[in-house]
Amino acid sequence: MRLGFFGATGTVTGSRYLLECDERRMLVDCGLYQGYKQLRLKNWSELPFAASSIEAVVLTHAHIDHSGFLPALLRRGFRGRIFATPATFELCRILLPDSAFLQEEQARFLNRHGYSIHKPALPLYTRADAEACLELFETVRFGKAFQPLAGLTARFCHAGHLLGAASVHLENGQDSIIFSGDLGRSGDPLMNAPQSPPAADCLVIESTYGDRRHEVLDLQAQLGVILRTAIARGAVVVVPTFAVGRAQLLMLLIARLKAAGALQDVPIYLDSPMATDATQLYRVFADEHRLSHEECAQVFRATRMVRSVEQSKALDRRGGPMIILAGSGMATGGRVIHHLKVFAPDANNLILFAGYQAGGTRGAAMIGGAKTIRIHGQDVPINAQVMQLSSMSGHADADELIAWMRKLPRAPKHTFITHGEPSASEALRVRIKRELGWSVSVPEYRDSVVLGPAAERNPANR
Ligand SMILES: [Zn+2]
Repeated sequence: MRLGFFGATGTVTGSRYLLECDERRMLVDCGLYQGYKQLRLKNWSELPFAASSIEAVVLTHAHIDHSGFLPALLRRGFRGRIFATPATFELCRILLPDSAFLQEEQARFLNRHGYSIHKPALPLYTRADAEACLELFETVRFGKAFQPLAGLTARFCHAGHLLGAASVHLENGQDSIIFSGDLGRSGDPLMNAPQSPPAADCLVIESTYGDRRHEVLDLQAQLGVILRTAIARGAVVVVPTFAVGRAQLLMLLIARLKAAGALQDVPIYLDSPMATDATQLYRVFADEHRLSHEECAQVFRATRMVRSVEQSKALDRRGGPMIILAGSGMATGGRVIHHLKVFAPDANNLILFAGYQAGGTRGAAMIGGAKTIRIHGQDVPINAQVMQLSSMSGHADADELIAWMRKLPRAPKHTFITHGEPSASEALRVRIKRELGWSVSVPEYRDSVVLGPAAERNPANR
């Protein structure tokens, strides 16, 4: 088996791993690059392998940085099968057409304003490509064996990061490998804890928070203090929210605060049709999270769902106090940027980030103290208070990553660290070496290794 690293190296986006077995090829994840412009440009560069030669893609989860390149792969000639858990498929049905819409919108914007050097600017892919992609999906339940390539057996196990999120275990009778996927938190109020991983010869582990420890605190209480303070001064609280996962956790915590009488009865708006659709899926996949049927219903009742663009615009004419949850989570697009344009210049308001902000995004800039951000070609002053709920993350921290690895029945022969900024990956490498004593490395873009005895001799062979 040969493993190639074609994304999520030195960054948290663009997850793409190439597995080759007896001349047959498949990918684990097929994500979009997001964040810095030089990263996003990578979505346009030529692929180092022929898309038509890929027989299968196995998806760890639906987030766009893991699934969002699929329609582009299809455009380049991919016609293979896409394996995913049922919840991942349902989420991809929501997320991929939306991603295509954003690509088309971006191209339209560039053409309208003549910003592009390419005339006309084309979208990376269209909604038709995304729809065609969805036809290629085959769903597989957690724990059930399937064969993405002849002679290669795969299984999904719960990663606890998101509905449907999985670690993927693959073996061909000689070698075995496990991809952690994005790992959730052991004590997440919403999602079940990640499952103990099965043994494997080789491990590929994420390192989003490889250099950090999430604060140990009562998330609900912390959110309560922040919201009460803002609401007491009549603020509009704008929360850039990831449509799937963080939006539902926020709704849950706010509903619990209200039910406990710890939060005034101010209106809460979920201004994201996508997040509203995703929320419905928590009812369908009830065994993947901790909420009872009644609690699911309670969360729905506590929040007002905003569907139409007109309703969304009407919020901008409304005064505080109120709480608006809107996508996207890193303020890279979506309805939240319209709300930021209106509410960020007012020092009375609060912009509350709830999750990881990748470098190069408006979210990262605001957290870093930017005085203005550029929206629709205009510099918007940021006078509102800006805060981040870091422990709101859907990712395991460094301690939790180490704890998950300790649960492997035996030490892998080699461990590869991916999906992290360079400092986070390096910090995790040092910890794995020191605390677990394992053979470990941080691969670079396009590194390729032969698994089995060769990998042991030279884990960084290119
Ligand atoms: Zn993710």
